[in-house]
Amino acid sequence: MKLKTRYIILAVILVFALISTGCSTKQVQDPREKEPDTPKTEEPNSEPVVEPKSEPEETKNNPALVKANEAGQIMILEWHTIGEQEGRWARTYTNFRKDLEVLYEKGYRLVSLRDVVTNNIQIEAGYTPVVLTFDDGTEGHFRYIEQDGKRIIDPNSAVGVLKAFAEEYPDFGLEATFYINYYAPFRQKDSWQDKLKEVVALGMDLGNHTVNHKKLSTLSQEEVAEELAKMVKMVQEVVPGYELDTLALPHGINPKDINWAVSGEYDGTKYHNKAILLVGSGPIKSPVAKGYDSTKLPRIQVFQEEFDKWLNYFDNNPEKRYISDGDPNTISIPTSQKDLIDESKLGEKKLNTYN
Ligand SMILES: [Zn+2]
Repeated sequence: MKLKTRYIILAVILVFALISTGCSTKQVQDPREKEPDTPKTEEPNSEPVVEPKSEPEETKNNPALVKANEAGQIMILEWHTIGEQEGRWARTYTNFRKDLEVLYEKGYRLVSLRDVVTNNIQIEAGYTPVVLTFDDGTEGHFRYIEQDGKRIIDPNSAVGVLKAFAEEYPDFGLEATFYINYYAPFRQKDSWQDKLKEVVALGMDLGNHTVNHKKLSTLSQEEVAEELAKMVKMVQEVVPGYELDTLALPHGINPKDINWAVSGEYDGTKYHNKAILLVGSGPIKSPVAKGYDSTKLPRIQVFQEEFDKWLNYFDNNPEKRYISDGDPNTISIPTSQKDLIDESKLGEKKLNTYN
């Protein structure tokens, strides 16, 4: 009992001491700032004091140190079905999860297609942006299931896999564009509207893949406009204010005039596409590079052979890879890459070269 009272008194003194020093926090010495010769008083198995890697900002974001190359190429990856089957146009959800793991380990970070085409790439210095796209709005991209009487996102659908991965690795990001077509995108007739809202609420994007998935080369200008505008109207009715402003060409086939796909109007609904995506077959140029054209952006289809081929390509040719300088206001490149840059595409951004 006596001992207990002594502890209480000690505790009260300690609390007072903490309160009085707490008023002038500047005087409280950080234990990590101790003089080097201060004898260590920690118990042997207490947590070691980890010195934070406090590189000054200028060093961390030094373009030369992180080998920034914002003239480099970017992969826009493309999946079709996600499910139980693996094939040329199909990926299992297990392999899809592995795709994300490989990208993460190799220093890729997710960005939205919109941020690429508006040249507003914002990822940490030293990392490479990558864009994820899904065509055809199939159920495996986004499925609701019932669990304990509640509706949940199927963890084995693309949205479920992406969401779980982003929770585990928040620095990877949660960005993807779902190119929808047909009258009930994601194919569950009684919940497709909720899914469109949820994709947007999660911070991901919807894209136009036309209502009927026809070969646009066979259509008149009015028919092309109808195919695109109807999809825009459908999304606007479900997610008011959301702009469906990127297009993945069905079958990768252009209309007779690409401008018909860029902008137009049908039955009072206007559309304008900031980006038009092809089906194949390689990375895109940097949005500030000569020859970059937002109306014909190639993509890389993810089946094992093709995916490995491009990952290896960037591993073996690191100078071809876009590497961020961490500052969206500057475009940093090694001096050797200067010829690749189209200065008219820089806009407000400052070009920063280094040797
Ligand atoms: Zn398609």
